[in-house]
Amino acid sequence: MTSDEHPTSTQRLGVDQAPKGLSVVQDLLNTAGMTVAPLPDLLADETTAQSAVDASMRTWGEQTGQTPARISISPQDLPALRELRDQVRGWLTGEAQDSAPSRLAVDISFRGDRFEYEPQGGGAAAVASLVLMEALLAARTGTLARLKICRNPACGAAFYDLSRNSARVWHDMKTCGNVMNLRASRARRKDPSAT
Ligand SMILES: [Zn+2]
Repeated sequence: MTSDEHPTSTQRLGVDQAPKGLSVVQDLLNTAGMTVAPLPDLLADETTAQSAVDASMRTWGEQTGQTPARISISPQDLPALRELRDQVRGWLTGEAQDSAPSRLAVDISFRGDRFEYEPQGGGAAAVASLVLMEALLAARTGTLARLKICRNPACGAAFYDLSRNSARVWHDMKTCGNVMNLRASRARRKDPSAT
């Protein structure tokens, strides 16, 4: 990353990127604002949304070895992107059991010895297609289950759990884990019957 390039939404949290193109799904989730840091919602504004999408596509290109076409974001794309973010978060937390079907529009070509794919359309529709494609691929290979939302409600960072038993619930044990464990133990001391 050179100095004139923005970090991805995930990098601004100091969190490792999910691998093999799944980073676009993680980056979308991490555009959300949070109160623990505090950080602004990158999808609240056209300029920050464009920077976030550019950085995310650059990382996706590095991870997948593909050259991404630039996706241009207009103000009209922002509500759809925020809705997509909520939907994807619901999939990961299990809160969106029966979401409406989403349309995936991707051009797939076979080059050399591998498939390349490029989202069709522009703006939010192109982002949605790529996010759906990567979520689908990761779900099939079992890696989507390792993409998690930090259990601290004031945080909500999307992190990739590399632990062997895939048991992590905090994006960072030192910050979110300790804060939440401390709060729980204080609550237990006040009310010993609480679990
Ligand atoms: Zn956290």
